[in-house]
Amino acid sequence: MTKKENILVIGAGLCGSLLALRLGQRGYNVRVIEMRPDLRKVDISAGRSINLAFSDRGIKAMRLVGIQDKVEPLCIPMNGRMIHDKEGNTFMSNYSGRSHEYINSISRGLLTALLMDEAEALENVTIEFNKSCKKVDFESKKATFKDYKTKEEFKVHADMIFGTDGAGSSLRKSYYLERKFLFSFSQNYLTHGYKELTIHPTDNGGYKTYKNALHIWPRGNFMLIALPNLDGSFTVTLFLSYDEGEYNFNNLTNPEIVTKFFRKEFPDALKLMPNLVKDFFENPTAPLGTVKCSPWHYKGNTILMGDAAHAIVPFYGQGMNASFEDVVEFDNFLDNHKGDWEATFKAYEKSRKKDTDAIADLAIDNFFEMRDHVANPIFQEKRKLEMALEQYFPNEYSSKYSLVTFNENIGYHEAMTRGRAQDKAILNMIVDKAIPTAPDMTKEELKDILAKVKAETEEILDEDNLAKTLNH
Ligand SMILES: Cc1cc2nc3c(=O)[nH]c(=O)nc-3n(C[C@H](O)[C@H](O)[C@H](O)COP(=O)(O)OP(=O)(O)OC[C@H]3O[C@@H](n4cnc5c(N)ncnc54)[C@H](O)[C@@H]3O)c2cc1C
Repeated sequence: MTKKENILVIGAGLCGSLLALRLGQRGYNVRVIEMRPDLRKVDISAGRSINLAFSDRGIKAMRLVGIQDKVEPLCIPMNGRMIHDKEGNTFMSNYSGRSHEYINSISRGLLTALLMDEAEALENVTIEFNKSCKKVDFESKKATFKDYKTKEEFKVHADMIFGTDGAGSSLRKSYYLERKFLFSFSQNYLTHGYKELTIHPTDNGGYKTYKNALHIWPRGNFMLIALPNLDGSFTVTLFLSYDEGEYNFNNLTNPEIVTKFFRKEFPDALKLMPNLVKDFFENPTAPLGTVKCSPWHYKGNTILMGDAAHAIVPFYGQGMNASFEDVVEFDNFLDNHKGDWEATFKAYEKSRKKDTDAIADLAIDNFFEMRDHVANPIFQEKRKLEMALEQYFPNEYSSKYSLVTFNENIGYHEAMTRGRAQDKAILNMIVDKAIPTAPDMTKEELKDILAKVKAETEEILDEDNLAKTLNH
């Protein structure tokens, strides 16, 4: 066997831990250095996206490293969205008409810990904690770290450096600040931020509301969501503007106003959260942004992956899944790697970037869909129709949501292009009353609708292609 290179991975989050595991399995010598304490020993999760929606692209990555059986017990299936109106009425909107398609709620801490355990079990992988990367000299392949315990700075040299240090990446910052090559970078914040709250379990450890759903309280300009945890609790997230609307993060400044806001907008949630005020003032409010940049790599020396390369807003539940998919996609390129790292990094980025750009845009679209459209009658009609099409024609129809979430073998870009065209086709046809919308349609009627949706979708895709050709 040829001698394998020494690789430095900056950041042992979800992406970095998986990447270290995979590169370790491939025989590389991997040194991972993480800024925070070891989360397996210290609880550091309070208030920062404690659980996540985990779906097929992420599961595919677990299969790649052979740990899907260990991940499964950490998952709580969520079959659909449970929508809560202001009166506390609920209705369930399934994610798919195919019963085997659902998403999962998973603990960030437990999943990261599992990935770290698996990576560290390899003799060629090490993980160090409490050491923060300050900058990377990407020309000489040296990263400078500060050890939080000794307060000393030290340098690490490696054959290749992977920056998996999240949305505020130190490697990305070095690319940007050094100005040694043409590095494009954009960071766009939403006017909304988020705050995490908790619905605690019942006294005997049960769930206070329905377990197998992603709960949503859509309220037009803001919303509340809740995902279940294994201990019977739910992690609740409030997405709200910083400064617009009657209630916003800037004016929710005392317990009375917060309680009044929840009593008016989320009365059923308030009943489940006697701890609301305490959580509200103890937990941080954090911004939500999209980061895009290019190139991700510098020569064959360094490369960004996961949120460091493409942070997205959380409304499609895909940031972690996309970061895991980065590792799967990169791994495909390693199959043909002949020792030229620059060529491998370049080929990977060329193939991958269109997909991460697509999921970034889809995630913004879903921000509007979740907080607003899910409660809109035309949208609900469309969802019902799509459910029926998926149920009766499971091999012939997949909604945009299904293409993005459950079709791990097509890229996000393709899912977006086809999904958007289908959405447009169905919405146009509903608005024009070109298709019947009676609740109990026969299979024959649905077959007819499917044919019309397909024809209209193809027409829209052709028009889009033509427009693209003319613009070039
Ligand atoms: C509110 C919210 C909800 C979300 N919900 C979902 C969801 O439901 N589904 C989903 O798929 N995704 C979701 N995401 C997105 C998901 O959290 C990210 O996409 C995912 O964490 C990216 O993984 P990463 O490893 O690239 O980055 P991170 O998870 O941010 O990990 C980066 C790691 O690098 C370390 N680090 C940072 N700087 C340095 C440094 N200078 N030196 C050394 N180490 C450093 C950090 O401590 C951290 O451990 C959500 C995000 C948010 C904010």
